[in-house]
Amino acid sequence: MPNGQIAFALARIGVFLRSLAWEQAEPTGVNPTQAQILARLASRGPSRVSVLAADLGVTQPTLSDAVAALLRKGHLKREPDPVDGRAVRLHLTELGRRVAEAAKNPPPVLMSALDTLSPGDRDAMQRALIGLIRALQIARAIPLQRMCVTCAHFRPHAHDDADAPHRCAFVDAAFGDAALRIDCGDHEGAPEEDLAHIWARFSKVA
Ligand code: SF4
Repeated sequence: MPNGQIAFALARIGVFLRSLAWEQAEPTGVNPTQAQILARLASRGPSRVSVLAADLGVTQPTLSDAVAALLRKGHLKREPDPVDGRAVRLHLTELGRRVAEAAKNPPPVLMSALDTLSPGDRDAMQRALIGLIRALQIARAIPLQRMCVTCAHFRPHAHDDADAPHRCAFVDAAFGDAALRIDCGDHEGAPEEDLAHIWARFSKVA
């Protein structure tokens, strides 16, 4: 398929997902941006506004409006940063945690659509999406994603086992493509000079 058609298909899916995000967020009383903030705090723990803005790829003023609304509605609370008492971090309240839990469930209609694909097509899609996210990240079009293919602990094709060819040095265990992470809490960014080598080994170019 030509790149233009792929870009068009991705844009159509993006519009669909955006509208689903509104539908899913509405009953919980937050908008999709606010739901993303809550989900991010649930997965990464308490954060400063500046860190959260960088994670989500939005400006601080944009984020501040959404954060102010969440503070008002009781989804978030501010507490001093233990590392620097002059700074504050955002924490989820019990209400915020409940909404974050609901927000992180993938839309059932999307899961059903993915179920219609063959395992081979899903594997190919997973690899293609990881490659696309990585390329957008390198182009600085999206914020850093905590993916295996950019992680210092990732050892692609370290084993002669088709089911579990890769190794995670952090947990010291072998794993297969199906367990490749897109957002891992244990991710540690690989040095810039190693990224191309990791990708080449993963893609079996090297
Ligand atoms: S620490 Fe996480 S991101 Fe890094 S290789 Fe292990 S599973 Fe992948």
